[in-house]
Amino acid sequence: MSLRLPFAVALSLAVVPAALAQEGATDIGERLLKDGAVQAALAHAKANEAQLLDDQVRICEVEAPPFKEEKRAALYKQMFEQLGLKNVRIDRIGNVLGERPGLAPRPHLVMAAHLDTVFPEGTDVKARREGTIIHGPGIGDDCRGLAVVVGIVRALDAARVVTQGSITFVGNVGEEGLGDLRGVKHLFNEELKGKIDRFVSIDGNALGITNVGVGSKRYRVTYTGPGGHSFGAFGRANPVHALGRAIAKVSDFDVPRQPKTTFNVGRVGGGTSVNAIAFESWMEVDMRSSDKAALASVDASFAKAVDDALIEENARWNDTGKIAVERKLVGDRPAGLTPPDSPIVVAASSVTRVLGNTVRLGEGSTDSNVPMFLGIPAVTIGGGGASAGSGAHSADEAFDSTDSWKGTQRAILLTIALTQK
Ligand SMILES: [Zn+2]
Repeated sequence: MSLRLPFAVALSLAVVPAALAQEGATDIGERLLKDGAVQAALAHAKANEAQLLDDQVRICEVEAPPFKEEKRAALYKQMFEQLGLKNVRIDRIGNVLGERPGLAPRPHLVMAAHLDTVFPEGTDVKARREGTIIHGPGIGDDCRGLAVVVGIVRALDAARVVTQGSITFVGNVGEEGLGDLRGVKHLFNEELKGKIDRFVSIDGNALGITNVGVGSKRYRVTYTGPGGHSFGAFGRANPVHALGRAIAKVSDFDVPRQPKTTFNVGRVGGGTSVNAIAFESWMEVDMRSSDKAALASVDASFAKAVDDALIEENARWNDTGKIAVERKLVGDRPAGLTPPDSPIVVAASSVTRVLGNTVRLGEGSTDSNVPMFLGIPAVTIGGGGASAGSGAHSADEAFDSTDSWKGTQRAILLTIALTQK
């Protein structure tokens, strides 16, 4: 349904005179719940959760591999158009945008979910239902978020909710892996530069609130050499062997538990044949921490491991056919923080609590890292559903839809809260 503003305003439904100033955020959930239109929107969400789950499956059955989100973006754009959002478009980088004007252009809230998955082109994306469980690659991360965005628009329209500020709904590209947050970086640096007052990413399942942005460094390391026959050229340094040395060193890294600091060799490759000394080997590595110093430290250890592996492999084979290494930074996610006492986190906690859910603040590496780094109020929230055994980023990913309407309701209430002045 498209919203006819004067009519809706005449009904003076959800134009709640509540403020999201620091002092107003604590009980914003309670105050919004007193409004009839807000209640109607929440009731609509609960009654129509089955339709939302259908959307979730429909979105998920259109593949969206890294850097190839176009097909899913086209479907999502069509969905935005059918919802009656204004100025629906795909921006230069591939994000889908649609606007829902409020009484004033500001505050301007962006509600986003990411289009991309971690799965390569050609992955079987057919979803399978088994009771309350839906199986499918990406079904929770982040088809859930994409579907909840659609559910928010439907519920607001069905209940004729008029918001104080305006909302842009976004399906963004490039959240996962080497996408390096390029969709949201583009939003903040170009498409909506200077125009975003608050940002929410709905990502994955359960009801967590992420207010700490874990930074990451990602590298693609390539060892290269002359290669040769495994028998005839025996004695030359081998890029695959150097890679093995490097991985062994990385595997033994000591990292702090608090703040949680991690490392992972995610992909490896190289070589041409079982009976050839490789001319190339490579690996992709990800390191993370919410603490800048800890991240810098593991980053330095990594650089040393890569270089030492090269030196050792070259030293092992007295000078015949030296190999080289390139360490290329392919991902650099800024670390950031939205303070727990900031209005957006307090409001997110308030709407979570008032709907009977437990408030859990946490850290993660999400699209919100970008606004957090820029100092723009941002959180990432789960889209609902049970949290156990989701298997995100694995081909047997599952979404447990038990009481998943609670996630939809929480997202709706947060949307309304964050459009308050
Ligand atoms: Zn995600």
